[in-house]
Amino acid sequence: MAQIQIKCPNCGGEQFKHPSELKNDSPVTCVNCGEVRTRAQLVDHATKQTQELLKRKFGDRFKPK
Ligand SMILES: [Zn+2]
Repeated sequence: MAQIQIKCPNCGGEQFKHPSELKNDSPVTCVNCGEVRTRAQLVDHATKQTQELLKRKFGDRFKPK
């Protein structure tokens, strides 16, 4: 399974600060712009971005379950 690349929804940055114990509702701060989201929000965003990319790449052949 491919790892989801998490990016900042605000600036697209890929570096984040977060507590050492990372839970779904842990605050994650973008190092670049200071945007704060929970881990769950970032993963959700990244998942949608990945699905959009796949749809663009494979078009009608990509059928999400
Ligand atoms: Zn950012």
